[in-house]
Amino acid sequence: MRLVLLGPPGAGKGTQSARLKEKYHVPQLSTGDMLRAAVKAETLAGLAAKAIMDKGGLVPDETVVGIIADCIAAPDAKGGFILDGFPRTVRQAEALAKMLAAKNLDLDAVIELKVDEAALLARIAKRANDTLACGGTVRADDTPEAFQTRLDAYHAETAPVAAFYAKKALLKTVDGMAPVDVVTEAIDQLLDGGARPVRLG
Ligand code: ADP
Repeated sequence: MRLVLLGPPGAGKGTQSARLKEKYHVPQLSTGDMLRAAVKAETLAGLAAKAIMDKGGLVPDETVVGIIADCIAAPDAKGGFILDGFPRTVRQAEALAKMLAAKNLDLDAVIELKVDEAALLARIAKRANDTLACGGTVRADDTPEAFQTRLDAYHAETAPVAAFYAKKALLKTVDGMAPVDVVTEAIDQLLDGGARPVRLG
């Protein structure tokens, strides 16, 4: 299963990707997680990305395309993958299409989580509070200012990615405001909906 999860920051892509990973036994490729790991490890890419990420901007396409190309070529991604946070620009989507075409592969679906943006800021504030309550560290880009920048980047750069996939008839939309389990169920329906049990006799 080769899937892309699309949606604005805070839409729940990470939560649903983790569930899809368990269901389909394929790796969850989160560029955000990978970049945060690179920042923590102080790699060259991480050091370059840190200032951009903290402000809520997008790191250069070449950086993330390179990361994803390596992951897709890795043996554990042979049976598929869940892309979470990538592609975030049309250029990234085009680069992904090229990578897959070179292997004679295509995506199975692109799932877009639609959310009410007025509610997103409240969601992010809750995520920060919950993290603090558990003794964790809140992401530097979960401040209201950085969050607004992430939302602006989503509108300017990522919303056109949905149109890109709609044109290819790959886009499926789910109500991301529903409770987490209901969203999972809706995604399952979309992905398995075509498969009917075969009746014998
Ligand atoms: P969210 O979806 O909640 O905004 P992510 O964890 O997916 O968070 O991403 C965090 C940050 O990492 C982004 O704001 C951006 O700076 C960077 N990033 C992640 N994926 C990409 C990508 N595909 N292209 C450019 N920047 C990215």
